[in-house]
Amino acid sequence: MAVSHRLFRPATTTVKNTFSSFFIRSLSSSSSSSSSSGPSLDPKIDLEEAAAQLEKSSSSSPSPSPSPYKGRNFHWVFLGCPGVGKGTYASRLSSLLGVPHIATGDLVRDELSSSGLLSSQLKELVNQGKLVPDEFIISLLSKRLEAGKEKGESGYILDGFPRTVTQAEILEGVTKIDLVINLKLREEALLAKCLGRRICSECGANYNVACIDIKGDNEDSPRMYMPPLLPPPNCESKLITRADDTEEVVKERLRIYNTMTQPVEEFYRKRGKLLEFELPGGIPESWSKLLRALHLEDDKQSAIA
Ligand code: ADP
Repeated sequence: MAVSHRLFRPATTTVKNTFSSFFIRSLSSSSSSSSSSGPSLDPKIDLEEAAAQLEKSSSSSPSPSPSPYKGRNFHWVFLGCPGVGKGTYASRLSSLLGVPHIATGDLVRDELSSSGLLSSQLKELVNQGKLVPDEFIISLLSKRLEAGKEKGESGYILDGFPRTVTQAEILEGVTKIDLVINLKLREEALLAKCLGRRICSECGANYNVACIDIKGDNEDSPRMYMPPLLPPPNCESKLITRADDTEEVVKERLRIYNTMTQPVEEFYRKRGKLLEFELPGGIPESWSKLLRALHLEDDKQSAIA
């Protein structure tokens, strides 16, 4: 089956340039249960210490959310391959439900912009498409949750976490996840979507310059058309491409997803929390179907979930 895609804009390779200070405790070499995804970083963060931080930061506090879903305190997770659109749909749901969208990939990219040994070790892992160690990501996430708690946030939509079974077990130990949405997209489209991804370096908005048109073979495999999501004129000249959105690295990220993250789908499937959602096409087609699958109203005034 053929997939055609066109890239409309030239790529400028860089990473998001926001500074986020981060204090790391040096400690013992006892992170044996850390991610098996690759080398660990030095100085190390203890996994137990990171999990304890996460427990402290993930307990909820009352939120002054203006959303009609106020008080529902959603604890949702988005799973799915690189390029599937986790960020797009998680961020739309976050606005609708009035809970923060927390993407661990964004937290990592913020961290990469700081200088020092840790940042350069991290950058190497990320730019090769590898996962960063569990204890590091848990520590980053707990800091983000803690900061949100201080601002009165409650609930969240996690995007890109958990990505290993160890992360899922730790999360389960500290908080109750209500729902895990597993987004799926035909494989032929994933690579093209990653290569077409662009970010506005100023406002952080996500766009996609790929036009995906997969010819349908039969009823089970109909035509899929995903038009590009082009930037408005004020973002056009500020578009950047993520350093890890190259063909070689995207293929490695897809491989890592299949080996390290697919078991997380099973983890939640066994617990009856996994909602599988196959994206039928672009946003206009998929958004309303996703809302229906979630028993949410298109109309933001009411919910039946
Ligand atoms: P993707 O488009 O592949 O889903 P993300 O933006 O979510 O990418 O993540 C970018 C990179 O950040 C990952 O390839 C990985 O190096 C790191 N990362 C993000 N979340 C995690 C996590 N939960 N565990 C380990 N590494 C992570």
